[in-house]
Amino acid sequence: MESVNDFLELGLSNEILNAIAELGFEKPTPVQAMVIPQLLAEDNDIVCLAQTGTGKTAAFGLPVLEYLDMEADRTQVLVLCPTRELCRQITQDLSNYSKYMDGIRIVPVYGGAGIMGQIKSLEKGAHIIVATPGRLLDLIKRGAADISGIRTLIMDEADEMLNMGFKEELDAILEQAPQGRRSLLFSATLPKEVEMIAKSYMKDPQMVTVGQRNAGSDNVEHFYYMVREEDRYAALKRIADFNPDIYAIVFCKTREQTQKVADALQKDGYDADALHGDLSQAQRDSVMGRFKRKALHMLVATDVAARGIDVNDLTHVINYNLPQEIELYTHRSGRTGRADKKGVSIAIINQKEKGKIRRIEGVIRKQFTRLPVPGAREICEKQLSHLINEINGVEVRDDIYTFMPVINEMWDSLSKEDLVKKILSYEFNRFFDYYRKAKDLNIPEKEKRGRKKEVSEGQEVTAGAKDKKARDGDPGVCEKGFSWLRVNLGYRNKILPRDIISIMKACGLGKKSVGRIEIFGEFLYIGLKDNIVDYAKSQLDGATYDRRRLSASVLRK
Ligand code: ADP
Ligand code: MG
Repeated sequence: MESVNDFLELGLSNEILNAIAELGFEKPTPVQAMVIPQLLAEDNDIVCLAQTGTGKTAAFGLPVLEYLDMEADRTQVLVLCPTRELCRQITQDLSNYSKYMDGIRIVPVYGGAGIMGQIKSLEKGAHIIVATPGRLLDLIKRGAADISGIRTLIMDEADEMLNMGFKEELDAILEQAPQGRRSLLFSATLPKEVEMIAKSYMKDPQMVTVGQRNAGSDNVEHFYYMVREEDRYAALKRIADFNPDIYAIVFCKTREQTQKVADALQKDGYDADALHGDLSQAQRDSVMGRFKRKALHMLVATDVAARGIDVNDLTHVINYNLPQEIELYTHRSGRTGRADKKGVSIAIINQKEKGKIRRIEGVIRKQFTRLPVPGAREICEKQLSHLINEINGVEVRDDIYTFMPVINEMWDSLSKEDLVKKILSYEFNRFFDYYRKAKDLNIPEKEKRGRKKEVSEGQEVTAGAKDKKARDGDPGVCEKGFSWLRVNLGYRNKILPRDIISIMKACGLGKKSVGRIEIFGEFLYIGLKDNIVDYAKSQLDGATYDRRRLSASVLRK
């Protein structure tokens, strides 16, 4: 395929060239070099796989603007995208590129905001509509949006639109779009559902894959911290404290978790806030605004809410939880290390997630480095030197001179050294207090199943493995009122106490019924209340777990 490394060779008009020059675009990114000439010269459909930060908006935006018939009022281009934020951002980007195209109308429409204002905007005419699918359908039904005359339909972040459950809306829109249109689909990943859309609604699309990863991704270093599940949040705080200049997106799994982590950070005095789909439009705008202004230093977000949002110079991307789909990891980490800056992507994991790190390494073809969670001393040192640097950098204004006589008098008796100690302690005592009690959050590489430890559900599990390697062993005397249930699962099956708790839960047994647990190489013993142990046996014996047929027997002692 043709590839160009100068915008001037692309055949774009001067209006557009001037506008992008002002934006500082010097040469096309790889995806732009591949897609723009094709869009200008041919008329085939395109499916383009490229990650965040590769410059997709201009890749479709510039040619689409080039082709716009400014004389006609009708809507000629429809851009569909998953979220409100993205909708606004694409609109902003297109407006920037078309700064010198007088009279152009680009109208964003998205859910979560008043529909009347959007109807009014559309009434004034829209050459380009940038929309989330649900709201667009609504507007079409009300006769406010008319897509019957569109020549180009763009689906941006198609995988995310489907993830968000926009399948039906997309189908409905694609059915209504005129036959003669050209369709472009952009996606970071190519799951079956996206392929289906391409198959059903696109004409023999040409596949374009940007093999080259994010411009930035080679500058990204990957680290992980391994902690106990219950120490995840404490580890996040340590990371934040160890990096006084942090400017990061913290990715969480769910909306609830996002809110919980953000609330906890706020309560603990950090400039952090949450971005997720349960917030109102106004709340989301305010959070994004503050983050972009750096009034917030940590944006705690779901993948969906943060998708496509363009924030440069992040110092860190933090995976508070690793994403469910490994591919999303690349997407997350690609947000740091942009524009040739160095970026850092961090994952906080528990012991069970190490395998996932290895799988991600396979996908990104880079190695993670395990870092120790910083301890009290390192953090306090780092914070102190940060504070001292800040103090050194402060500008001394004339205003202070009038107060100097009073200040001198009050501090007359203190030596410089004592004064420094007092000032730093004034700032720092709270920190020292917090970290005085701080424990070591690191888990030794080897600590796995055998050690005595608390399971998250609060079950006490003792080291069954006095000799871990033993196939089976003596679990000892059961607690009063409890009996042992012996099951043919053990360390060799990689079983963990929490798995046992889940198995019990699946049988309808709550944690109150479960006592001590002893695990050996190939057998384990679950202490169960006398009155339910037989029932548990009947549930487990003969059942399958992890493709293994279980046998269970009761041992009263
Ligand atoms: P994507 O949609 O692939 O995630 P964007 O279109 O949002 O990426 O672009 C990411 C960033 O790169 C934006 O800040 C954009 O302004 C910038 N950018 C895009 N193309 C170029 C270019 N040719 N030169 C310099 N910066 C660019
Ligand atoms: Mg984009």
